[in-house]
Amino acid sequence: MTANAPVTQDVLTIPRKLPEGGKINLVGLTREALHDVLVQHGTPEKQAKMRVNQIWQWIYGWGVRDFALMTNLAKPYRALLEEHFTVEIPEMVSKQVSEDGTRKYLVRIAGGHEVEVVYIPEDGRGTLCVSSQVGCTLTCSFCHTGTQKLVRNLTAGEIVGQIMMARDDLGEWPEKGAPKNETRLLSNIVLMGMGEPLYNFENVRDAMKIAMDGEGIALGRRRITLSTSGVVPEIHRTAQEIGCLLAVSFHATTDETRDKLVPINKKWNIKALLDALREYPKATNSERITFEYVMLNGVNDTDEDAHRLVKLLEGIPAKVNLIPFNEWPGAPYKRSSNNRIRAFATILMQAGYASPIRTPRGEDIMAACGQLKSATERARKSRAQIAAETGQA
Ligand code: SAH
Ligand code: SF4
Repeated sequence: MTANAPVTQDVLTIPRKLPEGGKINLVGLTREALHDVLVQHGTPEKQAKMRVNQIWQWIYGWGVRDFALMTNLAKPYRALLEEHFTVEIPEMVSKQVSEDGTRKYLVRIAGGHEVEVVYIPEDGRGTLCVSSQVGCTLTCSFCHTGTQKLVRNLTAGEIVGQIMMARDDLGEWPEKGAPKNETRLLSNIVLMGMGEPLYNFENVRDAMKIAMDGEGIALGRRRITLSTSGVVPEIHRTAQEIGCLLAVSFHATTDETRDKLVPINKKWNIKALLDALREYPKATNSERITFEYVMLNGVNDTDEDAHRLVKLLEGIPAKVNLIPFNEWPGAPYKRSSNNRIRAFATILMQAGYASPIRTPRGEDIMAACGQLKSATERARKSRAQIAAETGQA
């Protein structure tokens, strides 16, 4: 595969129904969908609203996934639920903990596929980096996930299930009846794991709605950041239907370079992307759009690039997040030097843009941005290896 591979979004999405006994998994259903399946399977319409609230609180408020433990429901009703439904989240296959405390989980989903989820602790709080697809149909040339062939969309349950799994691991579910726990080890979500979230819009939206629901996981919309490579037609919807913060993988200041780094640029170029961002209804000074910019030695890191970037950002409430390139086996780029990154940041700051340099976390366990690729896939050859062997480098 090369960076010039066509942009495609032909990916498989599996139905919500899990194969196991034909039972319906309740995790990932919106409140409306939960209401509907309960009614379809014997809950009287009159009671349905109350039952939705009760079940919702058990699952998302207290992390209880065994109907038998849902003690405010009558026993026969629990048996009815048991007969038709399951409450399942993806299975944690392994956990690695970095020297810096970053945790990387390998998670198995239906069909035996695997995705990675990363928890990054910071001063008693922490950010969970969630995946939206197995692999990614896009082929950004600096991204390890982009070298993964196998792609499938995650269901809403598999996306919110990653958050629930992390809460399990962090021991962060409050006891029933306890006051709302304000210390949040898992305080923020970034959709920056594997996959392009805007190519799996509905599932990502439903999962984030569940994560934001005040009666459950209750993360505020400003605690969630969705990162996109630039799926222009879906950007507007992100503001309207999810309402979270937006980050954009910008990474280059000319179409020529961006075409190579982020090939979706050939479909929606820099101008089209910036036009969409200028109209992003949620962009305000308090909710600025984050421009992610990976620092690649000799590729996109000159002073001219920094000045061009400043020009391009005009009129958009923006901040820039400079990401030192995280290397992976066979990667075709090198990280810019610290001096180069600082010089680039200085130009942006002098133009009035906050431009923090992202500290790579969990590098020793390959958990840093762009290093994710499921273990089974990682064992396969890298794009560079394949290209070298076939003479297409
Ligand atoms: N598909 C989405 C979200 C996942 S990637 C997107 O592309 O925005 C999350 C961030 O990590 C993106 O900004 C991506 O460009 C960046 N990234 C990918 N590979 C990287 C690498 N090897 N080093 C540093 N950042 C990388
Ligand atoms: Fe996909 Fe994002 Fe990686 Fe590009 S950077 S290949 S869009 S995960």
